[in-house]
Amino acid sequence: MNLNRRDVLRFSAASIGGMSILPGARWASAADSLTASEAIQVLNPRGRVPLSFIIDDSTCLVNMGHFCMPQFAHAWPEREVYKQPWREWPREIPDSFVREFGEWCAEHGVKGKYSIVPYPACVGWLDRTLPGWSSQDLDNSLALVRDLMMPNWDIHPEMITHTRIIDLKTGRPMAEVNAGTMENSYPQTDISTDHLAAYLAYALTILKNCGLKCEGITTPGGFGNRVKDKLPVAVHQAVRDVFGSELPHFFKYVKNGSESTAPRLEFNGEKVAANLTMNVPAGTGDWFGSWEGSKQPEPDRYCNEDATSGRMVELIGRGEPAVMLCHWPGMYCNGTKIGFEAFQRVVRSLGSRFGDQTVWMKVSEIGRYWAAKELTSITRVNESTINMSAPLGCDGFTFSASVPNVTQQPFIEHNGNKTPLQSVPKISRLTSHSFAGADGKTIFCVDLPKGESTLSFG
Ligand SMILES: [Zn+2]
Repeated sequence: MNLNRRDVLRFSAASIGGMSILPGARWASAADSLTASEAIQVLNPRGRVPLSFIIDDSTCLVNMGHFCMPQFAHAWPEREVYKQPWREWPREIPDSFVREFGEWCAEHGVKGKYSIVPYPACVGWLDRTLPGWSSQDLDNSLALVRDLMMPNWDIHPEMITHTRIIDLKTGRPMAEVNAGTMENSYPQTDISTDHLAAYLAYALTILKNCGLKCEGITTPGGFGNRVKDKLPVAVHQAVRDVFGSELPHFFKYVKNGSESTAPRLEFNGEKVAANLTMNVPAGTGDWFGSWEGSKQPEPDRYCNEDATSGRMVELIGRGEPAVMLCHWPGMYCNGTKIGFEAFQRVVRSLGSRFGDQTVWMKVSEIGRYWAAKELTSITRVNESTINMSAPLGCDGFTFSASVPNVTQQPFIEHNGNKTPLQSVPKISRLTSHSFAGADGKTIFCVDLPKGESTLSFG
């Protein structure tokens, strides 16, 4: 098939069900090898737009809205936003609500990131005791996170306390109370990468003691703003040291307007997978009940009832990751659960219009996909063979190739094992190890193995 550059561009703009399926796609081979038969383009996972839900300020039992408010008011006495009636708010967000939320999300396929602040607002250490709750309460709460949340949610420490800076030598909060001793605005000076990594590792270690597994971290508020270039390296070191994870990631940034929401690859030195940290941004503000849980939710800002407007609709239309942001107290909303109800409506609306064009993923899965997309070398060897060299494995890896007709059942071969690919009638039916024809090309979807593999199709 003779595919010239103009054909390529036309195909890039091809729409499936009104949505571009080839967003941000790039040529797997460099421009110099952009000849007709080699044209290969990595698409979104399963040809779908990734969705994710980032939940900040969650932890076990402790309502961070209630406990953070007076500590923030102490550190920033001039700020009106911290003078809210926190005494009237419950001190607890109960596990019954975690269960209700987690089960509903599991039923509807929703995935994302769920923070666990390890020493929440200095109330108690999750790997020791939580004053105000029994040790049985704490054990049950951690078990719920491990069993119900961990399968579908990345667990991140959102630093150690989300309020006071901890002296790592003593484990005590710093004596002074001001902006300089609050995690939200730490550090105020240019600290070393090692120092930063030690702080992150301290937080990660507490969660490890709790039996939780983490591949990433979330920065609270403006944490790390003065050491932005050091943060990816510190995350890499800390996550690898404590958990030995293959691909560390973090959440810090929110992208607005036309800024790309694609994850960023942050390398510490040479551009190889071993030096990589994924920086996965959110694409929305928090328009549910906010960090205190006292705001009136505005679900239409994410997606209106019939999914024709809102930021999520805009991002899906662009074909870029559509990652929603919220804070856990803003789901519970001091017991009214109006934030959770608004969120359910958004999920239903998105599903009703975009159900077969989108896929919910963990933040780590989105990060891994973009890493694989950038680092996998894909070569068309001949008419019926494609070689893939992947420094990272990646499920649902999807790409199009200039293969007008597949005459024989394709298979992927890795380490001598062959896995056949099944034919599906259209892109929206793609699952792992399947293929579909579209516009004179073939879209392949495979669970890409780490290392060398070969795809044969004829
Ligand atoms: Zn936070």
